[in-house]
Amino acid sequence: MSDRPFHILHVDLETGQGKRSDFAPVSQVLGGSGLAAALFEHYGDPKLPAHHPSQPLIFAIGPLTGIFPLMSKVVCAFKSPYNEEYAESHAGGRLALSMRFAGYDAIVVTGQAKELSFLSIGGRKLHVEGVEYLRGRDVFSAGKYLRKRTPTHGHGSIIRIGPAGENQVAYACINVDSFRHFGRLGSGAVMGAKNLKGIAVIGDRELPLPDGKEYKKQFKEIYAQVTSTGMMSKYHNLGTAENLLALNELRALPWDNLRHTTRPEIDGISGERFAEQLLLRQTACAGCPVGCIHIGLLREKFADENEYLYRQVSYDYEPIFACGSMLGLTAASDVLTILDECERQGLDVMSAGVALAWAAEALDKGIITEKETLVPLVNGEKAGFADAVALLGGRVNEFYRLLGEGTLKAAAHYGGEDFACVLGQEMAGYATGEVYFVSQALGFRHSHLDSGAYSYDQKKKPGEKDADDAVAYMIEDERMRVMLTSMVSCLFARKVYDADRLREALRSVGLSDAADRLDELAREMQILRWRMKIACGFDPRAVKIPRRFLEVETWKGTMDEAFLNELKEKYAAAILDLAGGEE
Ligand code: SF4
Repeated sequence: MSDRPFHILHVDLETGQGKRSDFAPVSQVLGGSGLAAALFEHYGDPKLPAHHPSQPLIFAIGPLTGIFPLMSKVVCAFKSPYNEEYAESHAGGRLALSMRFAGYDAIVVTGQAKELSFLSIGGRKLHVEGVEYLRGRDVFSAGKYLRKRTPTHGHGSIIRIGPAGENQVAYACINVDSFRHFGRLGSGAVMGAKNLKGIAVIGDRELPLPDGKEYKKQFKEIYAQVTSTGMMSKYHNLGTAENLLALNELRALPWDNLRHTTRPEIDGISGERFAEQLLLRQTACAGCPVGCIHIGLLREKFADENEYLYRQVSYDYEPIFACGSMLGLTAASDVLTILDECERQGLDVMSAGVALAWAAEALDKGIITEKETLVPLVNGEKAGFADAVALLGGRVNEFYRLLGEGTLKAAAHYGGEDFACVLGQEMAGYATGEVYFVSQALGFRHSHLDSGAYSYDQKKKPGEKDADDAVAYMIEDERMRVMLTSMVSCLFARKVYDADRLREALRSVGLSDAADRLDELAREMQILRWRMKIACGFDPRAVKIPRRFLEVETWKGTMDEAFLNELKEKYAAAILDLAGGEE
């Protein structure tokens, strides 16, 4: 065997029936990102709105999932209710392995259930049941109930939405098991539009490991590389939160709705402070020996007497930036409080934090009043923000309804577009320079995970400005990441899984056709993703970068508007060229 087809399960919620089929072979669509884009091309309609029942919600794994370390992620693909464009979001947890053990490379859900429902999928069963009584239930209590309802015995995964997904907040996430999320661009709202509260995937079949010496050799080498190099200590020890001090020192950490890029109060929310005061344990996605997921202990007094409750809350660099420094919070436990509330509501922490940072500045400037926000939103004070997260998840009034569609939608109505920190979606935590800003604003997922532009900015000296070089870097870097997200590897393993290693790994499990065409396929899948996004109406030339990004001061000084505009123009042209012109 030198190739194989992908095994797909298509569930139609209108009928409650599922159909298995073989889709394209590995040598044609690679898997993960590539497979998901090909499935969207087949099942989706770029012209119909994101919430239309017929639009697919796609979950795809890769050809190496479950058989090599850190091949532990799932790509969720959908038309985004945030921007009405084709979108991807990635998550770890146990879902990837559960899909592999259930025998599916991808699950495609279309239609709308008649009532709020729970879909349970195994290798030999499929069941849709009404769970109307879970309407409005938060992520924690819904998860608890669904777990009891569906014991998963090891290789099982439960994903679900909270009130934000049911209420169609455009950046509602899907919570995966405990502590992982399909965070960005609103997959939770798509699930809500389908009347789907949760999905259980039960890996109830055997997974025979590949035969042969070459597979064993590859596995051993990769495992050794993952566990014996600096990667393990870097991600396991302090985790990505380690970057807070470094980026603050570099003047690249957004604070106070990006009014500042460094503050002396960083010590209160550094990775070191989280570890000293709050770290409870580290945990891992299934199939990963690294264990980079850091869980903090949140202890809160809830009565005058000495009555406390405690909860476990995961943290990372990005959530600490969005729900910490952006809100001017300088105590680690305050950040955990906001993260916990976002988790409860089923909101993407990055979009929610950045949206509330804009709201606090708008309130401060008198553009909106407490009549809109209902609670005081004061930079540095957690209580108002914690209440506002619940109001946002519930979309309780016109203001929160608009803010729940995205910061720019609210700003278009009330004013304050200049200081909306939106680069395609609410920004990620890197104020490194022009290349990063353009890469996020125009990039495929509007995500720092699709490009290493933040490190490109950091490597170039102030004054070193070459738009052609930067654009070539962004396009090539994205291609390499598509190769990885098609497998679907954790991107923390990108130095381990270079193209040569991936080719060897594919060959060792009998997929030599895909291995032979790997570079070509990564480019084809990169193009396919862009084609899907452009077919939905994306025009990279129309993207605007709010004024705040030009006012910001980083280690390189203030931004160069002419360079930023040149980058924008050239990157937009390169994207359109890559996708084969305009639709
Ligand atoms: S390194 Fe972290 S995110 Fe990546 S697979 Fe391991 S535990 Fe999951």
